Amino acid sequence: MTPAQKIEILQQLIQIPSVNAHEAEVADYLASLFAPYPQAKVERLTYAPGRDNLVVTIGDPTGPLLGLAGHMDVVAPGDETAWHHAPFGGEIVGDQLFGRGASDMKSGLAAITIAMLEALEQHQPLAGGVRLLATVGEETGEYGAAQLTDAGYADHLAGLVIAEPSGLDQVVYTARGVIDYKVVSTGKGVHSASPELGVNAITNLMKFYNAVGPMMAQHTQVDPVLGGLLHNVDLISGGEQVNSIPAHAELMANMRTIPAYPNQMLYDELEGLVAKLNQEPGVDLELTYSFPEEAIPGDPQAPLVQLAKQISDQVCGHDTQIVGSGGANDGAEFLRGKGDFTSIEIGPGSNTSHQPDEYISLAAYLQAIDFYEAFVPAFFQSTVVTH
Ligand SMILES: [Zn+2]
Repeated sequence: MTPAQKIEILQQLIQIPSVNAHEAEVADYLASLFAPYPQAKVERLTYAPGRDNLVVTIGDPTGPLLGLAGHMDVVAPGDETAWHHAPFGGEIVGDQLFGRGASDMKSGLAAITIAMLEALEQHQPLAGGVRLLATVGEETGEYGAAQLTDAGYADHLAGLVIAEPSGLDQVVYTARGVIDYKVVSTGKGVHSASPELGVNAITNLMKFYNAVGPMMAQHTQVDPVLGGLLHNVDLISGGEQVNSIPAHAELMANMRTIPAYPNQMLYDELEGLVAKLNQEPGVDLELTYSFPEEAIPGDPQAPLVQLAKQISDQVCGHDTQIVGSGGANDGAEFLRGKGDFTSIEIGPGSNTSHQPDEYISLAAYLQAIDFYEAFVPAFFQSTVVTH
């Protein structure tokens, strides 16, 4: 494939506006690229209408299996007047290709896809299987990765590389988890002249608010790369009008977890607090979660981490740093697959992810393809895989 063809694939991907939906169009396009190669096993898993996960497996199915993963969804462009380049245009100016997903992460998705296509095109013998795991809904809760994992597509992987935009000079081996939760307080609305007849939902919600902060602050363990547990109440609302006792109040909080505090432990604490407060007269609190994710523990000395650093150092001529990430990724779901394996993130990117005028350097994108093409055979020869 020529550099121009590789760039065209990325442009085509960016021109599909897969904003938390329409991933099936991305899956169709990627599947079409594998159509000339009947030996590639192409599978789809539908999450919802118009939203297909895509799995493509190539190579020797009897050997170890390397997972290469990327998400097909992008975040919304936001205020389009803040963009100087059309968010879904894929416009190129000099070395920069602009568009939503240029960094996060259609360049990474294109790069791992092209690495597989070129292995097929060159009839490269692979000492194992390589599986593309292209997901829906990463940006809104990793539910595509969850679905693929539940269906067994991450079982018995020998290693997993997620092409998120770390930049090729960084390999991410550990990541924070996330718990977003909501507490709804239900009271009884009455005229504020006779509050004794009602139940003030705001007062009861504040009981939770006042208790939860100190409770979470007791978790003082600090992860050496990720830092401490973070808990913030970020949304709060309640009441109907100033002369009525409020019948409804709610808050939402965001937690950024670390491996030292498994999510289940935190759920137990939150649920325990709600149950305790609900024993008080009139208190009616309800707790719900949206798409929580486990933190990803990791070992910077793990063979997969070290191999990624070594290959990136060689291909790019820089000193790749081994780092942690404050954000969750699809790896949190894939790691639930059967068997023990390491999940890392390394991929092309810029510091413009989720921003107006998101871009990728074409040189960095093409270099990422070289990286994955060097990484795949090195993986099968390495100590990561025990034959
Ligand atoms: Zn991403």
